[in-house]
Amino acid sequence: MLQGRTTISKFLIEQLHGAEDQADLAALLVDVTAAVKAIAAMTAKGALGGFLGSLDSANVQGETQKRLDVLSNEVIIQSCEWGGLVAGMASEEMEQPYALPRQFERGPFLLVFDPLDGSSNIDVNVSVGSIFSVLRAQGIGEPREADYLRRGVEQVAAGYAIYGPATMLVLSVGKGTHGFTLDREIGNFILTHPDLSIPEETSEFAINASNERFWEPPVQRYVAECKAGRSGDRGRDFNTRWIASLVAEVHRILMRGGVFLYPRDTKDPGRAGRLRLLYEANPMALIVEQAGGAASTGRQRILDLQPEALHQRVPVILGSKSEILRLERYHQEYDSGQDKPFVSPLFKDRSLYADGARA
Ligand code: MN
Ligand code: MN
Repeated sequence: MLQGRTTISKFLIEQLHGAEDQADLAALLVDVTAAVKAIAAMTAKGALGGFLGSLDSANVQGETQKRLDVLSNEVIIQSCEWGGLVAGMASEEMEQPYALPRQFERGPFLLVFDPLDGSSNIDVNVSVGSIFSVLRAQGIGEPREADYLRRGVEQVAAGYAIYGPATMLVLSVGKGTHGFTLDREIGNFILTHPDLSIPEETSEFAINASNERFWEPPVQRYVAECKAGRSGDRGRDFNTRWIASLVAEVHRILMRGGVFLYPRDTKDPGRAGRLRLLYEANPMALIVEQAGGAASTGRQRILDLQPEALHQRVPVILGSKSEILRLERYHQEYDSGQDKPFVSPLFKDRSLYADGARA
């Protein structure tokens, strides 16, 4: 049954009619979907495609680049540079913003992306994804790094693709969050999950527990209470999930609720968090908020953060609204010294919670 199905192009044209550059935005997002289809084809071939494995290079973050990181980056650039829709692009895999070749017309938007998220999972055949964010270009001439440093509330569109058993694209242009599934035979994304809504309550949380000793006390408190389950303050049991792929974690939360935390920790004092603000935290925050959830550093709404660098990292806590509000309250109570003394049966050494540590 193909009648009555809404393709992504039809959906975008309907959502983005009217205003001046909205048709251009729809066209840019269609170019992004073309790239996503190409990346989906590469990831789906697995070992048969010859795309797996690592390269000798490292990206600007010092992470080993996978062959597919580099290929996916090239695919997105090639899909989006020629159409006169972008003024420039920036990516996790490139230290500096990408300057468009001279022959291509400049357009009204900036595209920022993580071409392959969760790529350390690619060799073990676990879901990976692509994340993107669209900003309006400002000024004239070649965009410089400073032109990309805009708060998440300024995003005109954001989305991600997840390459799982099915390939899906989830996006928002600021009018709700909507999910599309790739029909491989026809080669088109079809609207399958309109108006996604994250349940406000949840009993699932996801965090990398190996970092527990580096977390701040409000996060220690939250996780300890979840783990105490029915016998603790929360009065109900929780489940944990951890896929170590941001796209897969956010997708699960959009489908059935939950909380994802990559909080500030003391493991590497030189950086405030793990995830990158411009092409991971901001697009995911927009998608989650547009689905009725919340996204925070624990102390501030992600979308309000003023970026200071292209590859800046931030703490990220997102998902079901009531849990995010609770986590913000725990941070606030800790920062103001009001929370009750933290008692964890898991920690014999409580020096972390001594008053002196609360500077
Ligand atoms: Mn990533
Ligand atoms: Mn990546």
